[in-house]
Amino acid sequence: MSESFLASLKRDFPADFLSQKPADLEKYGKDWTKVYAPKPSIVVFPRNTDEVVRLVKLCAQNHMPLVPSGGRTGLSGGAVAANGEVVLSFEKMNQMGPVDVLAQTVRVQAGAVTEAVHQHCAPHGLTWPIDFASKGSSHVGGNIATNAGGVKVIHYGMTRNWVLGLQVVTMNGEVLELNGSLEKNNTGADLRQLFIGSEGTLGIVTEAILKLTRVPRQLDVFFFAVDDMSSVLKLFLEARRAPFTLMAFETLTHNCLEAVQDHLKLKSPFTQKYGAYVLMEVERPDSENAQTVLDQWLEGLFEKGFVHDGTLAQSPREARDLWSLREGTPESIYHRGLLHKNDISLPISSLEAFVRDMTEMYASQHSGLEVYLFGHIGDGNLHVNTLKPAEMDREVFLAQCVEADRALYEIIRKYHGSISAEHGIGLLKKKWLDYTRAPAEIALLKSLKQVFDPMNLLNPGKIFD
Ligand SMILES: Cc1cc2nc3c(=O)[nH]c(=O)nc-3n(C[C@H](O)[C@H](O)[C@H](O)COP(=O)(O)OP(=O)(O)OC[C@H]3O[C@@H](n4cnc5c(N)ncnc54)[C@H](O)[C@@H]3O)c2cc1C
Repeated sequence: MSESFLASLKRDFPADFLSQKPADLEKYGKDWTKVYAPKPSIVVFPRNTDEVVRLVKLCAQNHMPLVPSGGRTGLSGGAVAANGEVVLSFEKMNQMGPVDVLAQTVRVQAGAVTEAVHQHCAPHGLTWPIDFASKGSSHVGGNIATNAGGVKVIHYGMTRNWVLGLQVVTMNGEVLELNGSLEKNNTGADLRQLFIGSEGTLGIVTEAILKLTRVPRQLDVFFFAVDDMSSVLKLFLEARRAPFTLMAFETLTHNCLEAVQDHLKLKSPFTQKYGAYVLMEVERPDSENAQTVLDQWLEGLFEKGFVHDGTLAQSPREARDLWSLREGTPESIYHRGLLHKNDISLPISSLEAFVRDMTEMYASQHSGLEVYLFGHIGDGNLHVNTLKPAEMDREVFLAQCVEADRALYEIIRKYHGSISAEHGIGLLKKKWLDYTRAPAEIALLKSLKQVFDPMNLLNPGKIFD
């Protein structure tokens, strides 16, 4: 970083705009992946769009690369700054405007924390339905840049569906107001959608108009025990046909449940071990006989014989405890040792065959690796994690994971799935991008990057080189 660039930053921005403290460089230069050593030159904390515009222009003049950084909960290294970049933290851009109850929208700055948006809208009976375990830290800007999914996608869809308007600062310092708060606007290609999911490589999201929906009525949370993925999918079919609204349909294998029990000291609802579990959340039917409807459905389900046990939360606290069994899974297996993660998706109709092939592949080619499987099964999204065996050397494990990934991605390709369902590509998955995106597509994506960021200064090296 040149002295003149630093002097301009100090001269043109407020005193608390930047930090070069080693602790800040370490903290803001990385994300949750924790596998890349952070090495930014500086961290800056704008408070408004004007400061972002002035910063971008200064960076462009000085050829300084910029990494947008939200809550740093990303799991693909998208917000990592490992090469002397400027980290643009949105921590101080967290203002939220008034909730428009008629239009059911709210305008927020990119650094608004996901859960804070929920709390801001709840008194109006409204919510922004992007919901997952990291919502207490992740930012709206990060959610938009990753097109985040989560535990309610089966009902609400991805973040993309819940963004009406975007304010984006481009690398030439222009401020784009895309779509405003319009529900309908068929005036050519929708640029807003290009920025959603582009992992901060095409433009900087500074504000967003979020689309809201009503807070659901009473939610019932079930936890079921079954044998295997085939039974999980049978249960899914029953749930899809049921007389209630399915809000979440999540699964985990027994070793995931054990990890949560060990780490979070939570109890399994069951006395026996089973092959797989399903957490299901439903919105109670809006009728007086809702309880009878649920009871009848449950009775019919158990009569079919493939669900071995099940429990229905009797209080909000019990519901939270059941959710913790699923949401505590990533953190709990992470505590068991060195973990290799995959976040993949398949067409739902191919899930059973895929899991069969995948299980066979690990058993025959990588039997030393223990697979922890959990995920948003109702969306065809599985988190496939492997843990380093205690006796295995770290380097041997990492090399074996590369081989196992290659075999896994071949199976994904066979079933027309995706190597990254919701965590993005970032640094972590870029060498595998062509398992899901065709060469012609990648060439077009590279041309787009050239249009929006000809000097390759915005989050360089993410998604592709
Ligand atoms: C325990 C845990 C559970 C999780 N569960 C889920 C889940 O269920 N579903 C899911 O989808 N994800 C999940 N994640 C991943 C992560 O929380 C999401 O990807 C989230 O959307 C990232 O938001 P963030 O603010 O932390 O972004 P960051 O990690 O800070 O950044 C992510 C990407 O967005 C870019 N970016 C950030 N802000 C901006 C901006 N204003 N403008 C342009 N680009 C920007 C960054 O450069 C980076 O490329 C989970 C993570 C953890 C740790």
